[in-house]
Amino acid sequence: MPLSPRGVLCGTNFSIAFAKDGEDCYRRQLMPTSIGHALAGVAAAWGADLVPGDRAWRTAPAAASWYRRAGDGLTVACAALGALPDADLLFHAHRTYTHSVGAVIFVGVFAAAMAANAKRPIARVALMCAAAYGTHLLLDYLAIDHAPPLGIQALWPFTRTWYISGWDLFLRTERRHFFSLATFWINTRAALQELLILAPITLAIWLIRVKALAGLAPQLPRGDHPPQ
Ligand SMILES: [Zn+2]
Repeated sequence: MPLSPRGVLCGTNFSIAFAKDGEDCYRRQLMPTSIGHALAGVAAAWGADLVPGDRAWRTAPAAASWYRRAGDGLTVACAALGALPDADLLFHAHRTYTHSVGAVIFVGVFAAAMAANAKRPIARVALMCAAAYGTHLLLDYLAIDHAPPLGIQALWPFTRTWYISGWDLFLRTERRHFFSLATFWINTRAALQELLILAPITLAIWLIRVKALAGLAPQLPRGDHPPQ
């Protein structure tokens, strides 16, 4: 397994980071790409909208923009949360506590505080954001990993054991020789496979969501977005 020399730039398909002296670039690869993770975060947000309860504020009139109908800023935040755990590449803790149930709980608590401040349904927003972050763990758990220790420290802080499904559902990405044609094709293939798996699921959830929220839209003030 190749080790990076001091200060080498480890390119990922959508990010770059410095590997520390002696650190293995290969170990620090992303599993699914940020595209797949963000899409899963969106699916989680829309999936949470299917849960009955106080969700009329998640609707928008049919004439509203796609952005508003898709759930505007909160859905975008969930997309970001889906990809966020891999920000740990920046501080050399890849796939450890950032990829754990402990981090999911932290995100849920933080989102709950934000929801309380914004006067939104606290439990709904907390669970939505925690689920969006949690999708990252699921995708990594289902992905191929060839760099021991395999997988993620999913149950931190209860244990530092590494977990991976072995299902190899998502292809590995490549970050060495980032600008080479070979790397480009490996990462493109990985991203396309993610889209092949996740796009139909996300689309199905979107269509069900449109139906589920359709009856709620008339509850809104005419032609207006729900009050913030
Ligand atoms: Zn990850």
